[in-house]
Amino acid sequence: MLRVGVNGYGTIGKRVADAVRAQPDMEVVGVAKTRPNFEAEQAVEKGFPLYAAVEDRVELFDEAGIELAGMVEELVADSDVIVDACPSGIGEQNAEMYAEYDTPALYQGGESADFVDASFNARSNFSDASGADHVRVVSCNTTGLSRLVAPLREEYGVEKVRTTLVRRGGDPAQTGRGPINDIVPNPVTLPSHHGPDVNTIFPDLDIDTLGLKVPATLMHMHSVNVTLESEPDADEVRDLLEGESRLFVIPDHFDIDGAGKLKEYAQDVGRPRGDIWENCVWGESVTTEGDDLYLFQAIHQESDVVPENVDAVRAVTNSADAEESIRKTNEALGMGI
Ligand code: NAD
Repeated sequence: MLRVGVNGYGTIGKRVADAVRAQPDMEVVGVAKTRPNFEAEQAVEKGFPLYAAVEDRVELFDEAGIELAGMVEELVADSDVIVDACPSGIGEQNAEMYAEYDTPALYQGGESADFVDASFNARSNFSDASGADHVRVVSCNTTGLSRLVAPLREEYGVEKVRTTLVRRGGDPAQTGRGPINDIVPNPVTLPSHHGPDVNTIFPDLDIDTLGLKVPATLMHMHSVNVTLESEPDADEVRDLLEGESRLFVIPDHFDIDGAGKLKEYAQDVGRPRGDIWENCVWGESVTTEGDDLYLFQAIHQESDVVPENVDAVRAVTNSADAEESIRKTNEALGMGI
């Protein structure tokens, strides 16, 4: 069994802990938190040993009556792999601690690509993380774009990708984020950071991205144009995308017109937290004009990186190849809606 610790038990960390626990070849050694909030309470309720991430906060847990298993250093020492899901920038600060205990670490998309050995997307570059000590699982948007681009490159060749990302202002629980009533080019300069981030997965890909922020919390929406190196018809492309295990091509008759109904569907089918781990591509939007492909896809920012973290655990420990890991992860989670 691979022993996995999770440092930073928030939006991403708590989902990764549940996904790791669901795997037949992994166990959660424990999770570390800075504050005794509702998520800390739930971690204990679920039976995850809870470690304090900061020494001076230990008494806050005592006061709240939440029992600690120890300090984060003990969790790191006891884990085969650490998933760091701390807020952006904290992961890099933690890197030294992981190195000190010789524990390979996975970081999240908010971290810089500069200090890690590899950036990771299971479908696109699994083996780049093989045996690495510091691996960054790329952001929700970069994960979504990489999953889409990988099969298109393999099947048709890609000349250029142009994508406009309509980004949610914040996650549902992020009460302080915005905009509340605006449509904001973000960043207003081009390219947005997303294109260069996709290049950490596909260094030679020609990609331009533009970003906007809107008053929404449910999902991101990508308006995608890919200039291909051949001229497939739309049905062919749609078949290709339907064959990808982490792309959900929304059937026309589902009558799903946006992120609201997608989330409703995810809840109806019993997805934990209403999560959608797959890219959601509107089948009807898949259109070709000569060598240009167009489509819309929605990305559930809180969860699409979760199966990728699980696969990255197997990649850094060399315990499976891409195909086997993706299959195992998908089966254990119940991917494919
Ligand atoms: P979050 O704020 O929901 O969770 C972070 C957790 O880490 C919180 O519980 C916080 O209390 C805890 N924490 C803070 N400092 C800590 C420390 N020093 N040690 C241990 N824990 C600490 O953040 P999140 O949304 O889960 O984001 C985590 C990372 O994942 C970021 O890099 C982010 O960019 C990336 N990411 C977020 C999303 C998203 O949409 N939420 C999507 C993909 C990637």
